[in-house]
Amino acid sequence: MASVIFIDPSSAAAVVHRLPFTRFSNGLISLRRLVGPLHVCSPTPTLPRTLSLRSPRSSRLVTASMATEPSAKVIDGKAVAKQIREEIGAEVSKLKEAIGVVPGLAVILVGDRKDSATYVRNKKKACESVGINSFEVHLPDDSSEEEVLKFISDFNGDPSVHGILVQLPLPSHINEQNILNAVTIEKDVDGFHPLNIGRLAMRGREPLFVTCTPKGCIELLLRYGVDIKGKRAVVIGRSNIVGMPAALLLQREDATVTIVHSRTKNPEEITRQADIIISAVGQPNMVRGSWIKPGAVIIDVGINPVEDASSPRGYRLVGDVCYDEVCKIAAAVTPVPGGVGPMTIAMLLSNTLSSAKRAYNIK
Ligand code: NAP
Repeated sequence: MASVIFIDPSSAAAVVHRLPFTRFSNGLISLRRLVGPLHVCSPTPTLPRTLSLRSPRSSRLVTASMATEPSAKVIDGKAVAKQIREEIGAEVSKLKEAIGVVPGLAVILVGDRKDSATYVRNKKKACESVGINSFEVHLPDDSSEEEVLKFISDFNGDPSVHGILVQLPLPSHINEQNILNAVTIEKDVDGFHPLNIGRLAMRGREPLFVTCTPKGCIELLLRYGVDIKGKRAVVIGRSNIVGMPAALLLQREDATVTIVHSRTKNPEEITRQADIIISAVGQPNMVRGSWIKPGAVIIDVGINPVEDASSPRGYRLVGDVCYDEVCKIAAAVTPVPGGVGPMTIAMLLSNTLSSAKRAYNIK
């Protein structure tokens, strides 16, 4: 079938549509070709296994020994993201009461892509749900780079705006780097500015913002009480928006990190040594049970549509990780959907709130 579907992974309930002949990937969204069924891997209900994991809602430590019926704990990104949104909502109210400031997120959309418009609408809704103001600029497809830069410059100087997000992809005549570099790092809530990424990579330096999806991955590990310090971590994928910053974040948490990419000779062997795996590849069910060390914790960032005749839509979403195989071996794993995806937008809201607090020197 000559069609592809697009997904906004930032949405808790992944928004999926069919589009003719479109393919791209940027931080929050990704278009993938519909892929035929490679291996049947579907989420199944699970129980805790080998690691000690802290419940994200309480400080209770859930310790489980190796079970005879092995099954991994599900790392529930949807529930954690909901909890984070509630926390953000409460902080936004406090900020308003204390100093009369409401955090604001500006989103610039150029062109008429329906998928981009959907993502912008979702971000707007998410802002509303926590009391963050959203400002939207929608420019025509033939807008010049200068026009876009002018809006960025205005938002950079607007004290009611604490975060600026330029929805990608931009029309081809606009230089994406010029646009992203123009967002002041103090409002770079997507964390794409080279200065923020550079600071993330440097010891002793702090980025003002960390890219939302990798930040969401680490937040899941931390909220589930997964011990990262001194552990062996493997990140599969090295993109600027997911794999690379995820590896830097794990290193900052004192993991010993290896990055696997498309030219890696023995990915299975390397991945099998990992206590923690973050996979951001975009290949359905690539990471098989045989790649997993017993008791590993797995964060599956991949969102891949595969054909499924039994689904009313004719496809379903799977991760990079073959869920039904790894859940028998791993200690914990994120499902797809409902794992990392909902965390991405929660981190965007969190970055916007942090930015507003920083602007008023509030801890
Ligand atoms: P990307 O820019 O296409 O990067 C993919 C990475 O995977 C590249 O570094 C590539 O290696 C590596 N790779 C490709 N094939 C491989 C293979 N066979 N073995 C090992 N590594 C391989 O993709 P992305 O934007 O990082 O996104 C990755 C996945 O995450 C996609 O499924 C996307 O939809 C999803 N995603 C989800 C969220 C979310 O919120 N949940 C957000 C963003 C993306 P090279 O560098 O060598 O080419």
